[in-house]
Amino acid sequence: MRIPIRDVTPACERAEIAGWIHEERDLGGLTFLLVRDRTGILQVTIPKKKVSPEVLAAIKKTSRESVISCEGIVKAIEKAPGGRELVPETFNVISHADTPLPLDVSEKVPAELDTRLDIRYLDLRKPRVNAIFLIRNVALRAISEYLWDHHFIQVQTPKIVAAATEGGTELFPLAYFDKEAFLNQSPQLYKQMLMSAGFDRVFEIGPIFRAEEHNTVRHLNEAISIDIEMSFADELDAMKLLEKIVSYAHLKIADICSNELTVLGLNNFDIPNTPFPRITYQEAIDIATAKGEILSFGDDLSTAAEKIVGDEMGTMYFITEWPSSIRPFYTMPFTNNPEICRAFDMMHPRMELSSGAQRCHIYDLLMSQIKAKGLDPDTFEFYLNPFRYGMPPHAGWGLGAERLIMTMLNLQNIRECVLFPRDRHRVSP
Ligand code: ATP
Ligand code: MG
Repeated sequence: MRIPIRDVTPACERAEIAGWIHEERDLGGLTFLLVRDRTGILQVTIPKKKVSPEVLAAIKKTSRESVISCEGIVKAIEKAPGGRELVPETFNVISHADTPLPLDVSEKVPAELDTRLDIRYLDLRKPRVNAIFLIRNVALRAISEYLWDHHFIQVQTPKIVAAATEGGTELFPLAYFDKEAFLNQSPQLYKQMLMSAGFDRVFEIGPIFRAEEHNTVRHLNEAISIDIEMSFADELDAMKLLEKIVSYAHLKIADICSNELTVLGLNNFDIPNTPFPRITYQEAIDIATAKGEILSFGDDLSTAAEKIVGDEMGTMYFITEWPSSIRPFYTMPFTNNPEICRAFDMMHPRMELSSGAQRCHIYDLLMSQIKAKGLDPDTFEFYLNPFRYGMPPHAGWGLGAERLIMTMLNLQNIRECVLFPRDRHRVSP
């Protein structure tokens, strides 16, 4: 029976494995093949004089990245990866790989990201690239587990919608029979309606679509958002949950993914301490202004300002008490000073990871905020009605899955942690 390469140890007497030929080396009387599967790499050693003519003939036909299977004797050997090798008694070429390969999977020849993304099926075979997605998998699972354990219900809200979440321009229009429709930019309005429905605590890990015009290393046109909403809670409750979850995801990765972290060269993987430091928006713009990025109250934090403040903070942190004018209409203002609101951003020193807030649950106030932002309440009728029939106070956030993974693993481009990224220039593969 075939076993994963990870499980082939010197203690096994025999093993049957299958995988891709990672490297081939012919030293006259000896041929070395490195065979790779998802779990690792194994040296298959073929002493030409000792193996059968059938095995030799099969090996002759192989090329790098062909899929093979073999069975034979396992021996301890110091110099081989994992301290063992397999000497095959049977050897089958299951699927032949054409030559030359369009991309070097063993990473000896570097390739541009664009080329790599064009040939993603080969690129993903690289142990380094593979490790990123195994870690992403563990992070998202850890986050789901944490939320299930804390009584959150996982939901799926529609991605085809009639109204813009924030009335923004970053929308992809859609041909939907004879109606106008869009791809949803956030599950925000639906999460809130579920608070009225009494779902109490919900989470969704799903796609958001943003028609961002500019190509940056931290924006995608299709991203995964980890969204939560909780009732009878304020922004401080939402922030506590967020920092705990981010820290827990790091902890789980440190725990489960030590091999992948090693492959990525992240031997000093830090688990962020909670609580994260908090500064107000005013403090953030003061820090930026003092360092020459001059901002005044009501300005959005520029990328340069985010960087200055991030360098100063040196760890994950929150920015609170934002001007109401630059936050969405559904944000709850402070009663004693409605110029500022109960919104927060959670920041990594490099960039924003999450935005959240206590939401406005009071129908009349919400209505006036929609009008004040110049939006048409009629397009939000489906959303506003639930506020008329019993809406608890609530708070929540959206955390960008890719931004989290990108900053965690110190990746330079967000596309590195997306299987098939969508950006301004790319809708294929
Ligand atoms: P930014 O200002 O950095 O573009 P945003 O404030 O527009 O982000 P939000 O609407 O607050 O984004 O979305 C919540 C989170 O979702 C963000 O903090 C980010 O982690 C993630 N996110 C939003 N837009 C994108 C995108 N285009 N690509 C990748 N992640 C995104
Ligand atoms: Mg934001």
